[in-house]
Amino acid sequence: PLAPRDSLPDRIRDLAPNEIAEVAYLGFEDPEVIKLWVGEGDLPTPAFITEAAHKAMVEGHTRYTWSTGLPRLRQALADYHRRHWGVEVAPDRFTVTAGGINALMQAMQAILSPGEEVIYPAPHWPNLDAIIRLLGGVPVPVPLHMRADGRFELDLDEVAAAITPRTRAIAINSPSNPTGWVMPRAQMTALRDLVRARGLWLVSDEVYNHFTYGNAIAPSFLEVCEPSDRLLVANTFSKNWAMTGWRAGWLIFPEGLAQVFDNLGQYNTTSIPTFLQHACIAALDQGDDFIRTMVTRCRAARDIFVEGLSAIPGIRIAAPEGSFYLFLSVEGETDAKALAIRILRQAKVGLAPGTAFGPDGQGHLRLCFAVDTALAREATRRLQAFFAR
Ligand code: PLP
Repeated sequence: PLAPRDSLPDRIRDLAPNEIAEVAYLGFEDPEVIKLWVGEGDLPTPAFITEAAHKAMVEGHTRYTWSTGLPRLRQALADYHRRHWGVEVAPDRFTVTAGGINALMQAMQAILSPGEEVIYPAPHWPNLDAIIRLLGGVPVPVPLHMRADGRFELDLDEVAAAITPRTRAIAINSPSNPTGWVMPRAQMTALRDLVRARGLWLVSDEVYNHFTYGNAIAPSFLEVCEPSDRLLVANTFSKNWAMTGWRAGWLIFPEGLAQVFDNLGQYNTTSIPTFLQHACIAALDQGDDFIRTMVTRCRAARDIFVEGLSAIPGIRIAAPEGSFYLFLSVEGETDAKALAIRILRQAKVGLAPGTAFGPDGQGHLRLCFAVDTALAREATRRLQAFFAR
């Protein structure tokens, strides 16, 4: 008989290990390491959120509930979108998911059949590529280009040229992990026209939309699309409110699909924990100040890193317009993972190898700057000393 591993479907057996985790596992327990490898900040979840969860748990909100989320939570989500983007999204167009990852998973489950292609800009968050492969789809990366001023840019002609009869969707993550690229509103409109003309779906991952350093907020596809457009928007509580471990997110879908997403919610997780949903309501209703604190800290740390690291010969940084990552290119480097491991061991700074974000990330490192300024200064000092050797 076949060994268990050999009996697995190819698409499962061939899933690539997450390279960020491969490096992080080497230094997780070392207290001296400044850990800038994963996408989370150094602040704890604010007390008003944890207290709301605790209160709800004690009050007995511990049972099965609506699979798309508590009605009060979906109303709070609708209010949040009106407040921040001025868009009207009906509460029955939301489903509450187990984090942003599960929002994207349910989005792709809804639209993708085996063999169909999804086009997206690269370098990219590795989980997107993995979701597409898990569902038997085919990832089609289109490169972001670095302009002379150090910013990234997507060429929509290249996106259009990548469309084939098997293309099902275009997936955009703006503000982008790992590059910090923010898609301009005019390009969003042009892409909307393209997907409308070609009958494609648009999957928009907007989990970093508050984290912008030029505009007050990144534009959302919700502003340029209609409720009848083939648009799916994934978002999360993780980044805005320091809730990465809570596993709470949401997905917005077109009008008329409430039953479909009720089904998908039911068969994925039935719901996220009921008492957590009460805390999510608190985050949405009372959490705008905390978001501002997060973004202000990120901006300060970003400036320290950009200034201190661009001074290092051979390092090039795209000054990030959004998200909370720096994507550094290291001249002459051909093994990003080995470099990240050397930096971990010698400089005690934990970074993610660029190759975790696809082959275009070779020679790059990704640094999460959602930390306080003292830590940013110390990490910069260590990296300067490392590269001086
Ligand atoms: N999308 C992007 C681009 C991300 O970087 C992340 C997290 O790192 C997510 C989605 C999902 O986050 P979570 O599943 O923690 O809510």
